[in-house]
Amino acid sequence: MNVAVVTVGDELLAGDTANTNATWLCGELTDRGVDVRRVITLPDVVGDIARVVNEYRAEYDAVVITGGLGPTHDDLTMESVAAAFGREVAHDQAAEDWLVEHSGYAAADLDPGTTAIPRGADPLHNEVGVAPGCVLENVYVLPGVPTEMKAMFADVAENFSGPQRYVRQIAVDEPESHLVDRFDDLRERFDVAVGSYPGDHVRVKLSGTDRDAVDAAAAWLRERVDLLEE
Ligand code: ATP
Ligand code: MG
Repeated sequence: MNVAVVTVGDELLAGDTANTNATWLCGELTDRGVDVRRVITLPDVVGDIARVVNEYRAEYDAVVITGGLGPTHDDLTMESVAAAFGREVAHDQAAEDWLVEHSGYAAADLDPGTTAIPRGADPLHNEVGVAPGCVLENVYVLPGVPTEMKAMFADVAENFSGPQRYVRQIAVDEPESHLVDRFDDLRERFDVAVGSYPGDHVRVKLSGTDRDAVDAAAAWLRERVDLLEE
């Protein structure tokens, strides 16, 4: 299964808010065996969001979008997702009933539009905050507030799955440029993905769905590099 993650908000693009939702979702999805193919951050602009959702819902098995829920002027995600499907947003009575029952708000106290979702979508209840999310076909609309987003993702997490991947990491105490030939050799011998991440040292990440191949590749490489002394 492959997935695109879409995060919405001018404050993300301005650098005011670190995009922890994207990192968290990528980790959760990857842990479930999902192949995350795209992460994109978009401004609070209906046309931009609708165009990307429309493209990605056709291109990927699922799209997870966070941010821009609720009734304020910069909360445009529901309208945008509806537009991507050529639909309107509409008041969702089930979402309102749940909110009234669980939040302690009276229906009359809710801002207009609080429980508006694209017509035909299934609401996702917000256990932590107010604005509901929704699922429309393969598009999952979640809140921007991280605690709300995580709680709501837990409700749909089972829909995201794929083959388990095995990972081995090796800390190498050599310049990355010296490792090129050994990486070429490694990739020829073993059917594993090889990631090389330089920093204070080079972190080599080997991964794949065949556990024995990943273990064998890690053993092969360990014997041929200067390992970082821990
Ligand atoms: P609300 O219903 O409370 O309005 P929302 O779903 O509309 O929430 P936003 O208005 O987009 O979410 O963002 C609310 C807050 O959540 C932001 O001020 C920011 O602190 C945080 N937030 C939003 N998106 C992200 C993100 N991608 N990563 C981390 N934090 C985020
Ligand atoms: Mg908001």
